[in-house]
Amino acid sequence: MIWYPYEQMKTMNPPYKITDAGGVYLYAGKHKLIDSISSWWSVIHGYKHPALTQVICSQAEKFSHVMLGGLTHAPAEKLSQKLQEWLPGTLDYCFFSDSGSVAVEVALKMALQYYLNQGRENRTMILSLEHAYHGDTFKTMEAGDDEDYHFVLKAYGPSPYVVHIPTEIPALEKTFQQYGERLNCFLAEPLLQGAGGMRMYDISFLKRARELCDEYDVLLIFDEVATGFGRTGNRFVADLVLPDILVLGKALTGGYIGHAVTVANQKVFEGFYDDNPDHALMHGPTFMGNALACSVALKSIELFETEDYMSKIKKIEEITRREMKDFSDPRIKEIRIMGGCVCAEVWDPSSLKGYQQFAYEKGVFSRPFLNCLYAMVPYIIKEEELVKVLDTMKAWFRR
Ligand SMILES: *Cc1c(COP(=O)(O)O)cnc(C)c1O
Repeated sequence: MIWYPYEQMKTMNPPYKITDAGGVYLYAGKHKLIDSISSWWSVIHGYKHPALTQVICSQAEKFSHVMLGGLTHAPAEKLSQKLQEWLPGTLDYCFFSDSGSVAVEVALKMALQYYLNQGRENRTMILSLEHAYHGDTFKTMEAGDDEDYHFVLKAYGPSPYVVHIPTEIPALEKTFQQYGERLNCFLAEPLLQGAGGMRMYDISFLKRARELCDEYDVLLIFDEVATGFGRTGNRFVADLVLPDILVLGKALTGGYIGHAVTVANQKVFEGFYDDNPDHALMHGPTFMGNALACSVALKSIELFETEDYMSKIKKIEEITRREMKDFSDPRIKEIRIMGGCVCAEVWDPSSLKGYQQFAYEKGVFSRPFLNCLYAMVPYIIKEEELVKVLDTMKAWFRR
């Protein structure tokens, strides 16, 4: 049987069985649902997009996968070339992997080894944010800060290798003063912390972080697995503040196949580029650079550019602000909106109990978590479909 994610198998509600999908819609048999969370924020072009499906099929007719150990191929070469041109600064060196968690692990390994390769063995610590979520593998759990996901780590006691701070500049400055010489990186979900509760914060914090990283010679890592490809209303937050390492996942393939990439800048790459074989990055996920994933990612980026997705996202934000403007309820602590993300944070998570089924009956798929009732819709959504998603959220509180 299937062991489902984040669920108590004994008491969980049975999942909805999806039989078909197209555009923003999921079909559970004859029941039609708008996917308001884009399959964990990845399906930015909607389902069954003809151009995306077509590139996968034609690549599959050549080969679906060959390993990148000792081999290479055009889809991986073209995607790395495209990312190199498309991403800001010298973020030019693409290390592919099969999931966001692994790509963050790779970034953390790069940051640690970058200093080891220089003989600086005291740089063993990571700075990250309170409520951070960077994946469910062990080091990403340690860098993360979310008891709901990561409570098993309590078995080990507090980690001496990670410091968590709130998104406040004084805390940032104090931590650099205290630990600046021992940190190898500051890892952050920039502007929008997703799975830790859809928390939004100001760019000034990241600008200050960039300055302090330069001052103390610490690498800045942006985990844009969730925020990348326009979700915050910026193409990448890295366009505003330049990190040394950028991690992309989720929407990278338009949600077609799991794939992710850790992109290093020239400074990081040069920390490994050496005659000494011991200075190589010893990592290599079996399915890194998968040809189907790379082909569909390239096509996804092409659609993002040629169909001006940034203006679609602006429109989504405008409609969301308009529709939520005069809405409030005593059970809601705050409504937050940023780009293609809207979150109503409630005081008490029990006030969201039953929402999923309520939304299902209204024709919307939603999956509240913690205190968050949120939507991250596919960017191709039509105005009336988005209004329906937001009306469903409001209707829950007006019952
Ligand atoms: C989802 C997510 C990850 C983990 O990605 P997976 O593909 O699920 O391993 C890492 N970081 C952030 C910010 C995420 O939202």
